[in-house]
Amino acid sequence: MVWAFLSLVKAVIKTKVDTPAKNICVLGSTGSIGESTLDVLARHKDRFDVFAVTANTQIDKLLDICLVHQPRYAVVGQLADAAQLQQRLADNGLVTEVLSGVSGLVDVSEHADVDAVMAAIVGGAGLLPTMAAAKSGKKVLLANKESLVMAGRLFMDAIKASGASVLPIDSEHNAIFQCLPANYVEGMSECGIEKILLTGSGGPFREWELSELEGVTPSQACAHPNWSMGQKISVDSATMMNKGLELIEACWLFDITPDDIEVVVHSQSVIHSMVQYSDGSTLAQMGNPDMRTPIAYGLSWPQRMDAGVERLNLFDVARLDFVESDEKRFPCLALAKQAFNMGGTAAAVLNAANEVSVEAFLQERIPFTAIAQINERVLVSLPIVDVDSLDVVIAADAEARAFTQQVLKDYAL
Ligand code: NAD
Ligand code: MG
Repeated sequence: MVWAFLSLVKAVIKTKVDTPAKNICVLGSTGSIGESTLDVLARHKDRFDVFAVTANTQIDKLLDICLVHQPRYAVVGQLADAAQLQQRLADNGLVTEVLSGVSGLVDVSEHADVDAVMAAIVGGAGLLPTMAAAKSGKKVLLANKESLVMAGRLFMDAIKASGASVLPIDSEHNAIFQCLPANYVEGMSECGIEKILLTGSGGPFREWELSELEGVTPSQACAHPNWSMGQKISVDSATMMNKGLELIEACWLFDITPDDIEVVVHSQSVIHSMVQYSDGSTLAQMGNPDMRTPIAYGLSWPQRMDAGVERLNLFDVARLDFVESDEKRFPCLALAKQAFNMGGTAAAVLNAANEVSVEAFLQERIPFTAIAQINERVLVSLPIVDVDSLDVVIAADAEARAFTQQVLKDYAL
């Protein structure tokens, strides 16, 4: 695992001497992270150009984004939508070129004129364009944690081989990155680090009776107490699968194991994670729950720049609470640890099962509590194989999605 860690550090060192990125490709520009990214970029037009924007189906929203940011490329999911958007752009006097499908996403990610790629597509759909950015030496601003969960070793290998860099955008990983010492290159124990404290709010149901969880609705699950996010990650936060995915993400990014990480439930979401040192120090990164802070830090690192974020008022916050995570209430967290320790395609299988079961829950086809049950059944049922190529990951992902669709039937409402 040392190579993965060294590649991160080398990447970090490389970024230190680079001038700030100029041409930015925003994958998933119509989503929650995409919107926050465009907001930050618009505050610093002198430093950044929006080079490419992408959306799956929200064509009207993508048109509005193009009108404001005038990118060189826009990418949509379907060919038919591309033709329609191209015409509407022309009607508005824009020369933005419209591409479509996965090949369009990959093309803009690896385009020679792109300096940094904001990887903010949700789910496994982000894997190929995010990998393309890693393979082509870009500064990868990583929000799409699922691609790292699915193919962590391949992703870190690609970063190392191409001389790319990865800056964590997930708020917890961005916080850990901010709390690590400059000599982290020497490894965790050499730097006197004892533990990574990964914080999570515990989601909207942390105090509900376990018996009440069966009847949770999608709108209740998506109403996160502190963060405003896309639907999938909101449900993942409610099951704490999000914390499980983040635990795997942290293992790859910082070259550590689940044993190095303690999950801390912190209901106010003011501390975004911590690093505990052998001298008794615990460093925390704090701020209001607003993704524009980690996005701005990723874009401007190692400098700081305005993100439009309201400053933290400690007198308003007044108190900070911490409790241990409850794996009985949140079995998905334990499943994620299990998958990471199993290695090979296990985490990709778990991720695929989770995407399918969350989608089924959002469509009100299964109850909330079935998400964890289905995820576990898929993880323990399918064969797990070594990962030596992206094709292996993609095949495991496809197999797990198809199998999960079968398993879902046993839990149908
Ligand atoms: P979202 O649902 O708001 O947006 C998703 C974006 O992905 C949209 O632009 C959509 O068009 C695009 N997309 C979806 N399916 C696609 C497909 N098949 N092909 C191409 N594009 C597709 O999601 P979000 O909340 O912005 O999350 C994006 C990523 O960032 C996720 O991986 C999430 O885990 C991560 N993340 C989000 C937050 C947050 O606060 N929202 C925080 C940390 C990490
Ligand atoms: Mg997070």
